[in-house]
Amino acid sequence: MGSKNDDKSVPTASPVTTGVSTTGISRKDFLKGSALAMLGVASAGTLAEAQSRPESNTVPVESCRHEGWSWETKPAPIPAAEIKNTITADVVVIGAGLSGFVAALSAKERGADVVIIDKNATYAARGGHITAFNSKVHARLGIKNDYRQTLRDWIAWAQGKVKEELLWEFGHKSGACMDWLIDQVEPRGLKVTLWGGYYKGPDYTENPVTHFFYKEASEFDYKNGIATGTGNPVLMETLEQIVKERGIRLDYKTKAVQLVRDGSGPVTAVIAGRKGNYTRYAARKSIIIATGCYASNDEMKRRYSPYSLAVDSQIYFPNKCNTGDGHIMAMQIGGAMQRQEPHGAAVHLESGAASYGFLHVNALGQRWKNEDVNTQSKSVTKALQPKGIAWSIYDRHGLDQVKQQVDAGIAGGLFYGQMFQRMGAPFDIEMERHLLEQDIKVGKVVTADSIEELARKMDVPVDKFVATVNRYNKLVANKNDVDFGKRAELLTAIVDAPFYAGRLISTLLSMAGGLRTNVNCEVLDAEDQPVPHLYATGAAGGDFFANDYPTLCPGTNHGRCVTFGRIAGIVAAGGSVDLIPSLDI
Ligand SMILES: Cc1cc2nc3c(=O)[nH]c(=O)nc-3n(C[C@H](O)[C@H](O)[C@H](O)COP(=O)(O)OP(=O)(O)OC[C@H]3O[C@@H](n4cnc5c(N)ncnc54)[C@H](O)[C@@H]3O)c2cc1C
Repeated sequence: MGSKNDDKSVPTASPVTTGVSTTGISRKDFLKGSALAMLGVASAGTLAEAQSRPESNTVPVESCRHEGWSWETKPAPIPAAEIKNTITADVVVIGAGLSGFVAALSAKERGADVVIIDKNATYAARGGHITAFNSKVHARLGIKNDYRQTLRDWIAWAQGKVKEELLWEFGHKSGACMDWLIDQVEPRGLKVTLWGGYYKGPDYTENPVTHFFYKEASEFDYKNGIATGTGNPVLMETLEQIVKERGIRLDYKTKAVQLVRDGSGPVTAVIAGRKGNYTRYAARKSIIIATGCYASNDEMKRRYSPYSLAVDSQIYFPNKCNTGDGHIMAMQIGGAMQRQEPHGAAVHLESGAASYGFLHVNALGQRWKNEDVNTQSKSVTKALQPKGIAWSIYDRHGLDQVKQQVDAGIAGGLFYGQMFQRMGAPFDIEMERHLLEQDIKVGKVVTADSIEELARKMDVPVDKFVATVNRYNKLVANKNDVDFGKRAELLTAIVDAPFYAGRLISTLLSMAGGLRTNVNCEVLDAEDQPVPHLYATGAAGGDFFANDYPTLCPGTNHGRCVTFGRIAGIVAAGGSVDLIPSLDI
């Protein structure tokens, strides 16, 4: 089921691009060869479900004004006559995503009787990068990471506005939580390694903390643009089997609509299902909100993160399930949102061409930045360019230069296609060539035998573009980027045909702000007091990020699903966070 914008060409799908000639690529094709290819997304959501963002990339001032947000009107309690069934468990988990499955299994392990409900017909899975510090994979591969330095960098990225105790708890517990996850799925044939393609340059640094799972028989060749047998689709498939085998009741197609709380007492139940035929899921101990983020709720984005509206596209699997239901239900019975605003948004160059570290130009044919930065920064600053347009420019030697840089450890990161490059495996240039060919086929990359012809295909002013390329080549020859300060070893000339221009497309993946919580994952109220018996985990939880989504540990969204999913499950079942081993500190 495609969105109504599926058949629009990418440049016309957003007013951002108005006035620029189209490349004739449908958004569907665009996404087919990109998001799935880059992220190895398969199953549990189809490509056609990808959604586009037709709105302007400039956020109108009035959109940020308080307008009486819909969730501020507390709904009337659902009448008892409309509740036809009651199902009782110790712990009720709302949401069958990574955080929900981890929480449910952890609660079950503590002896709780657990039920999971989800509004979709299947679990939620996407991507595959999962951050954890000092897991058994690190020990096996002999890799050390100074988690203290990494967390200090993370806090600096957030301008210090995160709840630090959550980050340090993640630092201490994520390794043990990852080890637990590995112990669940390894006996069922899944393998795990670290992502070797992380950025190793000196300026913007990523860290070797990104785990991913894959099937023994996986092919890492990205044929047809998809790396099959890798990432969270295979992880979640396996976790679902375990959930079922351990006797956890899993009710799909069951939408939670209202939490039940008597005054300032504990939360006792969640009402779910359809109007007139609801089921009360009563919790003897607790309810865990694991409903994901709110990236598909425009009103919430206007309220909490207006900059997240300035993107070219948006994807999620299953499509649009991330509407902030859990946040809203919690706020309506007294829970509070995190204090820090704006909320971060994970925006990557997911749906366009690979950006690499080459010359980037805007719609005026002008260079606009030091290109040696992460995909998040490129994505969010691209929106500040005229018409929100950006291209990455290179010549015949481009991919060889990328390989040299990645293999030499001076570049890398979330800027190219090999999201499942195993630690120790070299950059696979044949795979990258294959991806480039696909991008050319669908029009994400245009090629030409002269710089002038390339400019015409990009629909940028020819004279300006030629001058920009000449200027850049001069900086390269001088080994000194006096314009934007890029490191000399990343300066590569654009001289030999064919020339390439890759169109960069920013994509909103998920929102990174959520409910106010403490280190036990308890939902807090406006006075920072726990709402009794209510927990939030995964992307529904807040205070972990501030302002922006940091990419220095690729996979932090999933990383917190695992660590805080485990903490929420254990504590909600009556256990203590101390049951999870900490790093030696
Ligand atoms: C294409 C793509 C790739 C990504 N890749 C990565 C990556 O590699 N690494 C990373 O860290 N992050 C990645 N992310 C972000 C990451 O997937 C999410 O932030 C994270 O997985 C959220 O997990 P969750 O368990 O909190 O929620 P979800 O996975 O969204 O699960 C929430 C579940 O709750 C259900 N639900 C919602 N409302 C209700 C309701 N009212 N009643 C019942 N059920 C409800 C939903 O149907 C859903 O199944 C990616 C995002 C995208 C879009």
